[in-house]
This record gives sequence, structure tokens and C-alpha cells, in this order.
Amino acid sequence: MATAIDWHAEAAKLSFRSQAFINGKYVPAASGKTYDNVSPVDGKVLAKVASCDREDVDRAVKAARAAFNAGKWAEAAPKQRKRTLQKFADLIAKHADELALLETLDMGKPIMFAKGVDVMSVVDHVRWFAEAIDKVYDEIAPTGKDALGMITREPLGVVGAVVPWNFPLLMAAWKFAPALAAGNSVILKPAEQSPLSAIRVAELAMEAGIPEGVFNVVPGFGETAGQALGRHMDVDAIAFTGSTEVGKFFLKYSGESNMKIVSLECGGKTPNIVFADAANMDAAAMGAASGIFFNSGQVCVASSRLLVEEKIHDDFVEKVKAISAAFHPGDPLDVNTRMGSMVDKSQMDRALSYVEKGQKEGAKLIAGGRQVRQNSGGFYVEPTIFDKVANDMTIAQEEIFGPVLSTITFRDTEEAIRIANDTIYGLQACLWTNDLTKAHRVARALRAGTVNINNTDGGGVEVPFGGYKQSGFGRDKSLHALDKYTQLKTTYIKLA
Ligand code: NAP
Ligand code: MG
Repeated sequence: MATAIDWHAEAAKLSFRSQAFINGKYVPAASGKTYDNVSPVDGKVLAKVASCDREDVDRAVKAARAAFNAGKWAEAAPKQRKRTLQKFADLIAKHADELALLETLDMGKPIMFAKGVDVMSVVDHVRWFAEAIDKVYDEIAPTGKDALGMITREPLGVVGAVVPWNFPLLMAAWKFAPALAAGNSVILKPAEQSPLSAIRVAELAMEAGIPEGVFNVVPGFGETAGQALGRHMDVDAIAFTGSTEVGKFFLKYSGESNMKIVSLECGGKTPNIVFADAANMDAAAMGAASGIFFNSGQVCVASSRLLVEEKIHDDFVEKVKAISAAFHPGDPLDVNTRMGSMVDKSQMDRALSYVEKGQKEGAKLIAGGRQVRQNSGGFYVEPTIFDKVANDMTIAQEEIFGPVLSTITFRDTEEAIRIANDTIYGLQACLWTNDLTKAHRVARALRAGTVNINNTDGGGVEVPFGGYKQSGFGRDKSLHALDKYTQLKTTYIKLA
């Protein structure tokens, strides 16, 4: 029998890579500056991390461009890139415990999910794009016999990936796996709160055989390193995941620099519609609770608006409330913990400020709402449920990015659709019903990039993911992700 891992003991043994990774080497920031990277598990400083700025980004871009032009990666046969990326995936899997621990310490998520969800999905993504890349064909246009119109895909060149802290390595992998598979060089800017797994994984990429300069990591702040990437004249594309506010900055940076391609995965305010004819109310209640409390609600697709049909309201809300108890925050390093810490104090304060706003605007707090585990030194918030929420209240309109659920009641299908779509966001929507016609009719009417029927957690790497409206544009995952990292070339040959 496998013995259980003592994660506290493993954590005590861990050492941290904390420098930038440029052109195949760990280097300090050109300025020599570092910042304190705090663990929200206990509020202690984990490491002093290189604080990169313009000069570091410029060095990374030069290395990435030189590597791209040298062609060792960009011009390698797809099957060769496949083999190298498969090795990369194997190395990530081999170091799963270490990487999971880095994620838990860095941003406070339970170790069980860091390993079983985050790191395993990263392995899946890298492997999937590795396996895909020697199976995508180019096109021949239907020109007639007097010409040959070839439509081929080429890598873009230098791709900047700017990612958030909620799934540090997974959000990065959504970008770097397809970008590398397509032959680009990548410069990754992890979130300031959670750079450790990205910094470590760069070394594994090299070990797998990805040539130096092809995969670079520049830790630092958004306003400095992030902005420098966004404004660089020799970056071909930015793939961004983060808030809608910062997503708009990248459009501006692009317009004010070299018109680089920008793709944006931004915020969300997922409606989760539960109809009275749902087949399994227990499953729906579990989906409603895990859809908002997983990762402490720090999920772009968190189903933060629970729309319940009036006639089942009382029983259903009672069920969700009962399940929420299982998400009471615990030690992230304990394998039994289902909800850990929030990423930092400011994110905790933000969630708590929405609890206050909800009460002020007249919503009814029926569970949670407080900070707990103060003695730990970390930033833990109870699973929180509001009832009697109106969709125009602040807590129903703004993305909280915390474990705060807003319950809204509806009378009929038309009202449910109207409330669901009454948001600036359109990343995901969910619905529960046993009526096939209703399910399809409502799914069509919902303005969201993903509609989940009888679940709240969507699919894996095989399905595209991205937003409508101010949730952004461009798609991660699936073969459609390759569209973001390639451009089409037409080669037109006269044959007559
Ligand atoms: P954020 O503040 O927008 O930050 C995202 C990234 O952008 C970070 O690396 C950040 O660096 C950087 N950044 C911040 N300000 C910048 C600036 N002025 N110029 C250039 N870069 C800048 O988002 P977050 O707080 O890390 O993450 C939460 C948000 O991400 C939520 O809105 C959530 O919905 C969204 N999200 C979306 C998806 C999706 O797929 N749609 C997935 C996950 C999360 P710093 O770390 O230094 O701030
Ligand atoms: Mg941030």
C-alpha cells in the first residue's frame, strides 16, 4: 500500500527557484531588484523573487527572437516537436508532487486539487497539443485547374503569455502548450503572487530538449514586466488571462505599439440556472456548491449567480447550504481539505467587502461571510451564501472572485434567460433540467462561450474555452487554440 505523503515535511524540504529564466539560464533582474513572495497558507515569505522590468523583458524578447530565427524549434518537423513536448509532459508528471506543493504554498489551494486537478491537467494539455501537432493539415483552395492556392499555417514568432494566480501553471499551459507546439518562442509573465511553479517548469522544458531561448519566464509586476511585454515592438502576440480591466490595457498597449495580436480571457459572472424539472436535485446542489466554492471561488467561470425556479427555492437553497459546510476552510496541506486560503490579504478583503455591500443593498446573508483560521496567519474566508439577491445588486453584477454565492429566484424560462444574460460578461453559463427541448432552447439563448447542461465544470482540453462580450475573445484549448498562435499564408501559383 502506498504510504500517505506528509506534505508539511515535504514543504519543509523544498527549495525555491526564484529568478527569471532567459535564454536557457536563471538570471537575476537586471536592476537586481526582488520582491517578497508571501504564502497565503501562513502569511510568511516563501522567497525573494526577481522583479523584472523593461530591460529583462527586452533581453527575453531578443533571446526568443534569436531562437525563433535560428529555426531549431520553429522549423523542426512537427513530429520532432511532438516528441520533445511529450518528454516535457513526462517530466512535469514526474515532478507532480513538487509542482503541486509549489502551487499550494504560493496561492493557498488545497494540495489535493493542486496535484489532482492543476498539475494533472497541465500534463494533459502539454501531451494533447504534442500529439495534435503532427496531425493538423494545411489546405488547398478550390481555384480550378489553372492555379494552385496553398493555404499554410506558420508560427507567429514571439508570443508573450500573461497569466493570473488562480491556476498558476494551468493558465500558463493553456497558452504555452499550443504556442510551443505551433513552433513559437514564448515569454511567460506569471502573476506576482504565484510565480514559483512557472519558474521551475522552465527548467523542465530545457531538460526535455526545448532549445534555449524558446521558453522564457519573466516574473515581476503587471505594471512593469507585464506592460513591457504588452508594449514591446518585437512581440508578435499577447495571450492574456486575467481581469477585464487589465485585458483592456493590453488592447491599448497593442494599439500604441506594434499592433501585436491580442487574445483575451477575462472575467465572468456565470449564471447557474436550476429548473424545477432537474432530474437529480442532489447532483444540482453539489454542482451549485462546488461551482462557487472550488478554489475559494477564485475561478473565472465560478457559478457565482444561482438562479433557482421559485417553486423549488426553499428546498434547493437548504441543500446547497448543507453541502457548503464541507467547504469550510482548512489547512491547504491537509489532503482532506476542500477549500484553502484566498490568494492574499487584498483578495480576502475584497471578498469581505462584497459581503458587506450585499447586506447593505438588502440581500439576505444565510451562510458564512467571515474570515476564519486567523491564527494560521493566512487569509481564509467561509463559504458564503446570499439569498434574495436582485440581479441589479452589486454582488450580482461584479466579479467577486471569492467564495460568495448570490441566489436569485425566477418564475419562468424567459425570466431565467433574461436574468442570465443581464451581465457584461459571457464566459460560461450552466443549466439543470431533464427536458431536452428546454435544455437546447435555453442553451441557444444564453450568450456565453460555454454552456454546461447538468454540470458546472465544463470539459477538458478537447473543447474550446473563451468568452463572449467583455469576457474577451480568442479560444484556449482544443485545436481552435492553434488559431491564436499561427497565421495563414496564401501561396498562389499560376499554372496556365
Ligand atoms: P489581473 O490583475 O488582471 O492580472 C493578470 C495578469 O496581468 C497578472 O500577471 C498581472 O500581473 C498582469 N497585470 C496586472 N496589471 C497589469 C498592467 N497594468 N499591465 C500589464 N499586465 C498587468 O488578474 P488577477 O487578479 O491576477 O486574476 C483574476 C482575474 O483573472 C479575474 O478577473 C478572473 O476572472 C480572470 N481569469 C480569467 C480566466 C479566463 O480564462 N477567462 C481564467 C482565470 C482568471 P500582477 O500579478 O503583477 O498583477
Ligand atoms: Mg493581480
